[in-house]
Amino acid sequence: MLRIAIQKSGRLSEGSRKLIAESGIEVEQIGARLRSAAYNFPLELLYLRDDDIPQYVADGVVDAAIVGRNIVREREAEVSVIRDLGFGRCRLSLAVPKAFAYNGPQSLQGAKIATSYPTILGGYLSSRGVSAEIQVISGSVEIAPTIGLGDVVCDLVSSGSTLMSNGLVEVETILESEAVLIASPTLSGEKAAILEKFLFRINAVLRARNTKYITLNTPNDSIARIVELLPGMKSPSVLPLNIPGWSSLHTVVSEDDFWVIVEKLKGAGAQGILVLPIEKVIE
Ligand code: ATP
Ligand code: ZN
Repeated sequence: MLRIAIQKSGRLSEGSRKLIAESGIEVEQIGARLRSAAYNFPLELLYLRDDDIPQYVADGVVDAAIVGRNIVREREAEVSVIRDLGFGRCRLSLAVPKAFAYNGPQSLQGAKIATSYPTILGGYLSSRGVSAEIQVISGSVEIAPTIGLGDVVCDLVSSGSTLMSNGLVEVETILESEAVLIASPTLSGEKAAILEKFLFRINAVLRARNTKYITLNTPNDSIARIVELLPGMKSPSVLPLNIPGWSSLHTVVSEDDFWVIVEKLKGAGAQGILVLPIEKVIE
């Protein structure tokens, strides 16, 4: 049995549950409970505050967890980061009031910086030879300058709209973060084997999220040009259509290149382009 912690309620909860569900792991409905077991996989889920998670993993209270890289770095916990999970993206940034004359990190010399991330911020400042006063606060960091708790803030940002509405301007990114899978570095053989299976499923789900299945029809004399445009997993399948001189082409493309490729495909004579979601990609 592998015990995995996820955030109980917050920005990572939904993404974590969804990843587990898409991995084909069915979990008991939780209600107000703190833990639940999976029906069809040797896994137990614990629902915790994200701040506590790295320590629980380091202490072996849970075997693995899904948590923001920002929290892992801040806690400096002895855990292995297994892989990035592609959701919960944000950045830890420095932001200054509009009137602050910012010309690089040196401008922060002697400033008072409000943050919930004193360890990461401290490391950043000392690596740039800046000495500033760090004011640790646990929430609503963005209002600190307004209430006189600091001249500058160091906080998590995703769109930047919270900063903007508080009259702050983002000036430096200190850390790029997203949800990561972490594990205890000292798992027993049995637990390590379950983690391996869990990871195999997650890999299949995440690969699929980033890919689309494309089918299209093309005159035979355009096949060569179209194949050149398709960076598929291997070469595309080409099947004859029931109309002489035409074929149907099937392949997989990455979400990132998708729109660019579709435009080029049309330009090269492709017709009836269908795009389908992929549920899992096993390599
Ligand atoms: P908890 O009750 O578990 O302590 P919290 O309020 O500390 O929750 P959330 O605000 O739910 O935490 O954020 C959880 C994680 O979501 C963050 O640590 C970070 O990794 C990620 N995240 C993504 N976007 C943002 C954002 N715009 N602001 C804050 N965190 C973000
Ligand atoms: Zn928290």
